[in-house]
Amino acid sequence: MSTQVGDVVESAAASAASSEYLGTEAASSVGAKTTETTPLPWTWLEILRIVVMALCISVNVYLGLLAKTSVPVREKERESSSSDVDGRSEGGGEGTDQAESNYKNDNKTANTCASSSSSSTAAAAAAAPSPPPVLIVIAHPDDEAMFFGPSILSLSRDYTVHLLCLSTGNYRQEGTIRQRELVASCELLGIPRDCVHVVHDEVELPDHPTRMWTPQAVAARIIETQRAVGADKIVTFDEHGVSGHINHRAILPGVLHAQANGALMEKTRVYALESTGIIRKFSGVFDVMITANAPHACFCGWREVLAVRAAMQAHDSQYVWFRRLFILFSRYTYMNNLVLQSPPQSAQDKKRLQQIRDTKSKDK
Ligand SMILES: [Zn+2]
Repeated sequence: MSTQVGDVVESAAASAASSEYLGTEAASSVGAKTTETTPLPWTWLEILRIVVMALCISVNVYLGLLAKTSVPVREKERESSSSDVDGRSEGGGEGTDQAESNYKNDNKTANTCASSSSSSTAAAAAAAPSPPPVLIVIAHPDDEAMFFGPSILSLSRDYTVHLLCLSTGNYRQEGTIRQRELVASCELLGIPRDCVHVVHDEVELPDHPTRMWTPQAVAARIIETQRAVGADKIVTFDEHGVSGHINHRAILPGVLHAQANGALMEKTRVYALESTGIIRKFSGVFDVMITANAPHACFCGWREVLAVRAAMQAHDSQYVWFRRLFILFSRYTYMNNLVLQSPPQSAQDKKRLQQIRDTKSKDK
């Protein structure tokens, strides 16, 4: 008996869980009931692992179903059909169904740019009106894969997604490489090369963790691109920038600055990607329990999750161990929640905006 106890105690000491898992009382009772108490922690851990895996699989299946039915951004617009840029009616399920059908057939061709040079694409565009454009604004190459994957894939079902990257990601002198990686990543997310717009401005918009971009500089680039592509919907980071990077946080003030000055297209809607606390941020697929009821939520099915991971892998120069872990555990691989930003609401703001518009119309 004494030999058995010694073996068990030695075995338990060799494991990482021994005395800590057993606790003081359990450790002191090893002599009495060693064979019953020592295996328990590992048994429960195994059960816990199986339960977690089962939950992951079931929730991912659930998300796959959601991915087929969720149409982000559009939900609230249906409440005011007059502002629907598609010209689809209130019960416009037919058009949406058609767009989703196209996406199911080939999600890589769902997002088509007007400037695409492909003859087959041009023929298809002539036969059917191209989807309305939406502009996604990011700060660096890889933001689109790390944070906006679900938004891009979901919006591609109904919109032509244009991506504006406000820097080349040249902080470590890798700007040229990172631009190439951005194009490759976007193609994996269904955004053609012609729809990827990269700003080269090392003076006013450098990729730098301590140099703040001014709202004026950000606004100027966004206004320019918005007019070029004709998108009246803009999606970008919120004021916290998800990761807190100073360049991420500078974009929304720039967009709102442009909107407050009446420089954006009329009826432009601005959506910001919600930043969450650290627990939700790394809760992966489980955050669906909170995000499911959000009005403009975007979800990935399992195939789309693989597309997001592949897009991040395209950023070879950035795909280090902590970004691998981020892609694995982050909720932003599986879902996004877009929050509609209110345009200037005060009477003073409205009056100022009207004055600006009146002045512009007189100038014309
Ligand atoms: Zn970034």
